[in-house]
Amino acid sequence: QLVRFGPRIAENAARFADKPCVIDEAETVTWAEFGDRVARLAGRLKVMGVGPGSMVMSLAENSAANLIMYAGVLYAGACMVPLPFSATEPALIKMRSDCGGTLLFTTAKYRETAEKLGATQIVDLAELEAFTGDAPAIPPVEVGDDDLFDMIYSSGTTGTPKGIVHDHRFRCRQFSRTSAYGLEESGVLMMSTPLYSNTTLVAILACLIRGATAISMSRFNTVKFLELSEKHRATHAMLVPVQYMRLMDEPRFDEFDLSAYQTKMSTSAPLPGVLIAQVMKRWPGNIMEFYGMTEGGPGTVLDCAAYPDKWDTVGKPQEGADMRVIDEDGNELPYGSYGEVVGRSGSMMPGYHNNPEKTREATWVSPDGEHFVRTGDMGRFDEDGFLHLLDRKKDMIISGGFNIYAADLESVLRRHPDVADVAVIAIPSREWGETPLGLVVPKRQDADPDAIREWANEQLGKTQRVSQVEFRDDLPRSEIGKILKRELREPYWEGQT
Ligand code: ATP
Ligand code: MG
Repeated sequence: QLVRFGPRIAENAARFADKPCVIDEAETVTWAEFGDRVARLAGRLKVMGVGPGSMVMSLAENSAANLIMYAGVLYAGACMVPLPFSATEPALIKMRSDCGGTLLFTTAKYRETAEKLGATQIVDLAELEAFTGDAPAIPPVEVGDDDLFDMIYSSGTTGTPKGIVHDHRFRCRQFSRTSAYGLEESGVLMMSTPLYSNTTLVAILACLIRGATAISMSRFNTVKFLELSEKHRATHAMLVPVQYMRLMDEPRFDEFDLSAYQTKMSTSAPLPGVLIAQVMKRWPGNIMEFYGMTEGGPGTVLDCAAYPDKWDTVGKPQEGADMRVIDEDGNELPYGSYGEVVGRSGSMMPGYHNNPEKTREATWVSPDGEHFVRTGDMGRFDEDGFLHLLDRKKDMIISGGFNIYAADLESVLRRHPDVADVAVIAIPSREWGETPLGLVVPKRQDADPDAIREWANEQLGKTQRVSQVEFRDDLPRSEIGKILKRELREPYWEGQT
């Protein structure tokens, strides 16, 4: 029996009545109040004719009101399209017209941008109650498996963001698997990544389905995160690797009582083994690292406490995920080979919105006719069934005919005591075509790039040498914390083909 979002929210509102559902800087919303505000907002939307088939957009930072709006739209049976506020204005204009939505929820912070996107009705989340007015609470609107739940634009790490649609089948199957997070009704989840990313959504939906409590942060800040974690005795957090990095660098980290923590989750970018080691040592509770994509399909999980010798992998396929590795020509490779990772599971996108061509490119059909999602990530399963991820195909370095995986070089460089952060990229080489350049954020001002390069090369294979190390103050990252290698590469390739 699949769990349905709307009916479950109504049930939880009755069952957990006075328990906090979501807490932000301004208010604590109990489950009863959450259920009431969601059902009345849905009532208002229904009167306006918003329901199954409608696209409703948002451009807003995290808050209790944002979550109420999100849930209200879903409760009304409409499709939620949370626009990424970190995107540029032209990109947002394209997304608006691509999704075809007319109603847009925003906040004072994003109002100016919101006005330029071409929506016909803009509602400030601060006025959500006034917008709802005296609309009566309604029961959740009935939806079918094929009705759209949400559409999320991909991070755009490798190119133009793609609209990824998730139907109710996709999300319902995901809810039925949320046991992996160990988030129960007594759980308290830190919501510290933006609601427009799938990473956040997966965690927050699990929290709502389980009847737990969410602590909403409008903007991540290490001390604030630690204060809120202590104050609300947080049990769970969904964080991206760069946030773990910043927290480990926070001088006040050890002052806070984090003893209520059970599980921290990490996803969306590599979580280096050295970082896992620090977090496991200093922060109570376990880490679960997830690998997956907004498109659904493949999915792995690494239980860090259970497998201390596998911290450099992303774990094993999640229950129900069939994952394989294919070569350039789309032939399946024997287990244990390096290749592009493909996967299928109960939760798979029906396709990219308005983009059958990209959908085709992202699909691999097995010899027996099953559809898999192509990840564009290179990897290999080891003898114990754990996935070693190497690089995105687009980030792979082909030097003198050899494939060099930046991830291998980065993991060695990261172990050098003077290295705080690192990204290895391909730069042009007359001799080799491409050659690896290590961009390092040093821990000490007086560190020596050549010494770091030599140290790394002593430990690397002959065909895998770092040709040069350059220092940087910082590495460019997307809002969700992915290193933007495309941006790092560009200046080196200008004028080249
Ligand atoms: P775009 O598709 O627009 O370029 P994106 O691929 O970054 O953006 P997402 O769907 O948010 O968009 O991210 C999925 C990708 O993130 C995966 O294909 C993989 O490259 C990376 N990723 C996710 N989880 C992990 C992880 N645990 N370790 C390493 N990489 C990860
Ligand atoms: Mg992608």
